[in-house]
Amino acid sequence: MSNNQLEEFRAEVRQWLDANCPQSLRTPLTEDQIVWGGSHVEFQSDDQKIWFERMRDKGWFAPDWPKEFGGGGLNPDENRVLEQEMRKLRCRVPQINLGIWMLGPVVLEFGTEEQKKEFLLPMTQGKVRWCQGFSEPNAGSDLASLKTTAVLDGDDFIINGSKIWTSHGNHSDCIYMLVRTDPAASKQEGISFVVLDLKLPGVNIKPIEMISGSSHFCQIFFDQVRIPKRNLIGPLNGGWTVAKRLLQFERKAMSKFDDGGAPDFDYLALVKRYLQGPEGAHVTSALKSSIVSGLMADHAYKLTTRRAFEEGRAGMNVSGLASSFKYISAELEKKRLEDVLNMMGYRGLGWDNEGGYEEFTEEELAFTNRWLISKTIAIAGGTSEIQLNIISKRVLGLPDWEAK
Ligand SMILES: Cc1cc2nc3c(=O)[nH]c(=O)nc-3n(C[C@H](O)[C@H](O)[C@H](O)COP(=O)(O)OP(=O)(O)OC[C@H]3O[C@@H](n4cnc5c(N)ncnc54)[C@H](O)[C@@H]3O)c2cc1C
Repeated sequence: MSNNQLEEFRAEVRQWLDANCPQSLRTPLTEDQIVWGGSHVEFQSDDQKIWFERMRDKGWFAPDWPKEFGGGGLNPDENRVLEQEMRKLRCRVPQINLGIWMLGPVVLEFGTEEQKKEFLLPMTQGKVRWCQGFSEPNAGSDLASLKTTAVLDGDDFIINGSKIWTSHGNHSDCIYMLVRTDPAASKQEGISFVVLDLKLPGVNIKPIEMISGSSHFCQIFFDQVRIPKRNLIGPLNGGWTVAKRLLQFERKAMSKFDDGGAPDFDYLALVKRYLQGPEGAHVTSALKSSIVSGLMADHAYKLTTRRAFEEGRAGMNVSGLASSFKYISAELEKKRLEDVLNMMGYRGLGWDNEGGYEEFTEEELAFTNRWLISKTIAIAGGTSEIQLNIISKRVLGLPDWEAK
């Protein structure tokens, strides 16, 4: 695609987004405003519903998927232009759905034609909510130690075991998960990747209550759960390869590898407001310097992701970078929010306005939430330490000391 054609496409995208994205959805996306797809989808406003339906009908809820599965059929350059324009106009993502971000891309890569037909269209229509069943009570970072089994019985698998830390398991329709199908094989080689409906008999979902009093985590128990063999994605005992690919998509999504999508938190605006307000006088030069270095690191990070995109487009292998980007973005986010917290002082630690001495603004409460979430980003999808291990082995080619 020539540069002229791409610029023409950019103009069309901008015009379409401007005409179709409601003004109310061009604001930072807060936790409670997220629209999760699925059979129980809840739109909090007509605008949210209209925006999702328009994006869905245009194929831009999954812009780079084939049109036959409800995607937009965009090539990587066009997809990137769409993400850039959405960011410029501050358009929110119309729904959040693990199907689109994680499972769909691996079904496109590893699934049979029947599986693509069965699973992809409901995803692009936002009708099914998926959750991820990888972690187990004794298998987190060391995921290949997982013990949930799937035993072949005629044309079915029978599943027994449990998954933990399953985000939003109690609000999901279906789960994709890793199961042990060959206990005699070495750890990674006896694992398969399956999908199943959470309403099946034998599935028991228990929310996990956290210290805050609420949580999105669940533990899911499987007791003699029967699923058809056709729910196996990829080869039998080949699930580790599928999972590694899925984790790359997860890390890419988490690190905003594409530098696209909706803005979620206006860090710079908050910093400016505080520095220019009465609190600004108390901010030390060391803290100012740290805030500026965070801004510079963020800028450098975005330039690097852009460079990686160009390298990928030129045919270079950039797959190992997903871990680097996940690591850098998670650590950078923690550092930046820590700096802002130091700048805001106690006003950055508002929990709610019930029974407090002073009122916190909505923005301050959103900040505290964001600061707390930043701690989890360095754990979910593989901890920062695990990303460093992957980088040392796959990117730098250092020896695997654990294997010795
Ligand atoms: C917000 C959030 C959402 C999540 N959602 C899901 C979900 O939907 N589905 C799901 O399956 N899981 C989910 N998880 C679980 C997540 O994948 C695990 O928490 C993560 O993989 C770490 O595993 P663990 O908690 O068992 O910690 P552990 O593996 O016990 O690790 C404990 C500490 O030891 C360090 N460590 C462990 N091994 C090594 C090593 N070899 N080298 C160096 N350091 C090491 C870790 O970095 C960590 O600091 C979620 C977690 C969070 C925080």
